[in-house]
Amino acid sequence: MSVSGLCQICESRPAQERCGNCGTLACDVHYEDGKELCVECAAQADPTQPSPSESEDVDINRL
Ligand SMILES: [Zn+2]
Ligand SMILES: [Zn+2]
Repeated sequence: MSVSGLCQICESRPAQERCGNCGTLACDVHYEDGKELCVECAAQADPTQPSPSESEDVDINRL
């Protein structure tokens, strides 16, 4: 798929793809080919991103 226009993220490179989630035009740098998302959506959807540690059970009974 090819689109016309500039990448809406860097606004300096020609867009190659359209984000499947938000529709943002993205250049090859700002488009995650495997996810078919722009880097912004890919970052939000990334399951590997660290989750905030809340009330983490630390074993304080260790002797
Ligand atoms: Zn770009
Ligand atoms: Zn997007």
